[in-house]
Amino acid sequence: MNSIPARMPRVVIVGGGFGGLAAARALRRASVEVILIDRTNHHLFQPLLYQVATSALTPGQIGWPIRNILRRQKNTTVILGEVTGVNKEKRYVVASSADRREVSIPYDYLILATGARQSYFGHDEFERFAPGMKTLGDAVAMRNHILRAFEQAEAEEDPNRHQDILTFVLVGAGPTGVELAGALALLVRATLRSEFRRIDPRLARIVLIDAGPRVLGSFADSLSAAAKRRLESLGVDVRLGHGVDHIDEDGVIVGGERIASRTVIWTAGVAPSPAGKWLAVATDRAGRVEVRPDLSIPGHPEVFVIGDTAVLQQDGKPLPGVAQVAMQQGRYAGRLIGGRVSGKSPARSFRYFDKGNMAVVGRGFAVLQSGRFHLSGFIAWLAWAAVHLEFLGKSSLRVSVFVQWAWTYLTGQRGSRLIVNHRAAEPSPAVADAPRSAMASGA
Ligand SMILES: Cc1cc2nc3c(=O)[nH]c(=O)nc-3n(C[C@H](O)[C@H](O)[C@H](O)COP(=O)(O)OP(=O)(O)OC[C@H]3O[C@@H](n4cnc5c(N)ncnc54)[C@H](O)[C@@H]3O)c2cc1C
Repeated sequence: MNSIPARMPRVVIVGGGFGGLAAARALRRASVEVILIDRTNHHLFQPLLYQVATSALTPGQIGWPIRNILRRQKNTTVILGEVTGVNKEKRYVVASSADRREVSIPYDYLILATGARQSYFGHDEFERFAPGMKTLGDAVAMRNHILRAFEQAEAEEDPNRHQDILTFVLVGAGPTGVELAGALALLVRATLRSEFRRIDPRLARIVLIDAGPRVLGSFADSLSAAAKRRLESLGVDVRLGHGVDHIDEDGVIVGGERIASRTVIWTAGVAPSPAGKWLAVATDRAGRVEVRPDLSIPGHPEVFVIGDTAVLQQDGKPLPGVAQVAMQQGRYAGRLIGGRVSGKSPARSFRYFDKGNMAVVGRGFAVLQSGRFHLSGFIAWLAWAAVHLEFLGKSSLRVSVFVQWAWTYLTGQRGSRLIVNHRAAEPSPAVADAPRSAMASGA
């Protein structure tokens, strides 16, 4: 992690997610030294995290080592480290390296692409009882917890306790909540149904809660309605119009009603990384850095903030926190820096090209919205599958995920249903209640 004498201008990219990786790739032929720092060693395809949580895919099918992705890019060094601050006057970032040493890494250009984390909208006390899903560790922990619930119910002698153990409450009916609810319904109704003797997994209850009046609130009304009908046909209990008042170890309280549950999952919101604090610049109320039309920050044309951790207005509205925005911004920032280094005239302002939104609801059904074009059903699902395979980025992942999806579609069988604990001392579900905090323990 010690600094290398810079002969070429050095571009430091923090974050190897959708935005950071796109920026690094856009700089592959530029006469610069690129240093990409990430606190994990892998690029993660977050839109498919819910499939790991519901056993459809394995972690290795949606994450890949960043240094392997960039191995042919000779001007780029990948560093495993967590950035904790930026000195924008002296132009260096502060990072803690893999061995926890604090190091300073100088830059000529800086791209911050550090994404977002879970937000509990001021109710951080909910986190203990309702973990979210942002990392592979979160998704594996959730998979452990969901699978363990069925094991626990099977081992439970008192049938009156089965219902609480097998009630899954999802808070937030945006794309993540809807996709997770649909996938969970398939897991319990198709995959697990014939494997237990004392319980019928199909009786598991899945409750999807949102304070808004519709599921998939960012989609057109007709698509929201289609998604809701589909969820209900899969047996999901959709509760709209009431936010969660309270969450504790016994479940949730919604609109004055208690729903007893051992598994509450938070899919309601995200907050940006602390990039705004590191830079001490203006942010919106959520904490996203307000960037200029060329994605740089005021007074520092060499510092760019992109993706979920930035906010930029376009046509009077803030751009959404989606992968397409992050990728297009990454490409733009990379090309802009490459152009500047080679003395080209300044690039035009960034403009996002919206290719549309999709969400999948169970097997063989998706909703798709692109401008005025709206589609729901099987064809939309095929389009969803094709787009996600395309964006997986690595041919080996595409083949492996395609084969797994085809197999699951035909047989109902899933990619990985292993309960993997990294804590040897974790109590067995047969002898003790699995603590809810087990969800946060990862694997
Ligand atoms: C469950 C889920 C489902 C989603 N589904 C969709 C979808 O269907 N379609 C869609 O378009 N979008 C979806 N999104 C949103 C999409 O994933 C994000 O908009 C996108 O990932 C943003 O890209 P980014 O580069 O800004 O951040 P990310 O892709 O999150 O990358 C941030 C990177 O920065 C690293 N990092 C963070 N902090 C530090 C630090 N201090 N030091 C070093 N490294 C750091 C992280 O490890 C990570 O690799 C989903 C998100 C989630 C969580």
